[in-house]
Amino acid sequence: MTGESAALPLLQMALRVEHDIFVIRQRGREVAAVVGLEHQDQVRIATALSEVARDLLRTTGGADVSFHIDAAADSRFHLRADLAPVSPLPDGRYEPQSGAVSRLVDTLSVSTVDGVTVVRMSRRLPASAPMPTPARLAEFRTELGRTAPSSALEELTVQNAQLIAALDEVRSQRDELAVLNEELAETNRGVLALYNQLTEELEETNRGVVALYAELDEKSAQLRAASESKSRFLANVSHELRAPVTAIIGLGRLLTDSASDPLTDEQGRQVDLIRSSAADLLGLVNELLDLAKAESGRIEPDLADVDLRPVFGQLRGTLRALATRPEVELVVEEPAAPALLRTDEVLLGQVLRNLLHNGLKFTERGEVRLRARQHGDRWHFEVSDTGPGIAPDLHDRIFEEFYQVPGATRVGGTGLGLPYARRLVTLLGGTLELTSAPGQGSTFTVSLPVGGM
Ligand code: ADP
Repeated sequence: MTGESAALPLLQMALRVEHDIFVIRQRGREVAAVVGLEHQDQVRIATALSEVARDLLRTTGGADVSFHIDAAADSRFHLRADLAPVSPLPDGRYEPQSGAVSRLVDTLSVSTVDGVTVVRMSRRLPASAPMPTPARLAEFRTELGRTAPSSALEELTVQNAQLIAALDEVRSQRDELAVLNEELAETNRGVLALYNQLTEELEETNRGVVALYAELDEKSAQLRAASESKSRFLANVSHELRAPVTAIIGLGRLLTDSASDPLTDEQGRQVDLIRSSAADLLGLVNELLDLAKAESGRIEPDLADVDLRPVFGQLRGTLRALATRPEVELVVEEPAAPALLRTDEVLLGQVLRNLLHNGLKFTERGEVRLRARQHGDRWHFEVSDTGPGIAPDLHDRIFEEFYQVPGATRVGGTGLGLPYARRLVTLLGGTLELTSAPGQGSTFTVSLPVGGM
């Protein structure tokens, strides 16, 4: 654009009397249409023009109006209308009568150009508007020069048509809004129904959970009672059995005593059988009694600072008598000094003896080994053997009372040793775990806290 053709207005007109307001409005719309503003924008700028023109006619007695095309900073083109008042603006300021005017255009301000004060408004052209080259601007001017201003009546007709169109639009928007509102209300009702349903389901579930808990409490009370009566029964029965069994053993001993009348060989063999059976029975009864005692909480650990080395020395001594197979070596490793632990020495001794005894019972060749290591604040006691091993799916079961691995070589026993050992370890604040697989031996690990339970 050359300076001259850019500076040249597209159209100029004068505002002096009331009728000019109509003309300015009409021509403003024509200019907007020619330069490519969309229909809505044409109406907007025409309305803003007529409002401002009305204000200026009232306050300054008129204005000279001109239309231009500007390239703005955002490299988009704007249609600009300048209204230069014929007398100074009151206080040099312009406030539109209707505040809504400024919303109809992109800018509305008072500017001073070459010492002349103008009320200036502009509206951005859409990207689809024709590029305002000098040739095109010249065309615009010619076109606008051709159309003569129509009468106020014609302008009124046009305005009426626009008003009707605007009303239509408002009505259709209101209808749309009503539909949307209805949809919203429907959705609300749905959400509310869903919410109510969920609340109900939640309450139902809650009631179920409460009932379940009550049942669970009842069941665990029953279980506790059953377990207590089982322990009581075991303790009573074993206690009652102990006296007659001990009597049988004593009587047997009397019968075979050298001071008694001599027995025939056959009688001697039968009495020996009675004595050994009674001894087995006494063993079982004692184990049952121990377990019942441990279960009923009647064993109270007697904690003291224990040096493991003498404990291990004693185990080595007493178990050597049980290691009768020459193919099996019993190894009790000396714990590294200082081997101190706060625990019940007697109970710990019973547990380790029990595990070592099992190892010796079930191992046919190789070794049974006990070793102790300190890991942080715990002592780990490992009793490992090179025996048949135990399938992983039985690792829990062998800790159940009376359970013995089916098909394993029967070497005596009751199935009470491991459950008892685990009870004692638990009483001492520790754990008893097993690592084993068939053909790979077994390792029982007792883990106890260094400082006691
Ligand atoms: P018991 O030894 O009196 O049968 P336990 O409770 O001590 O009872 O052991 C239960 C079962 O676990 C044993 O009968 C045996 O089948 C299995 N078991 C225990 N220790 C070992 C071991 N070191 N190696 C293989 N099997 C074992």
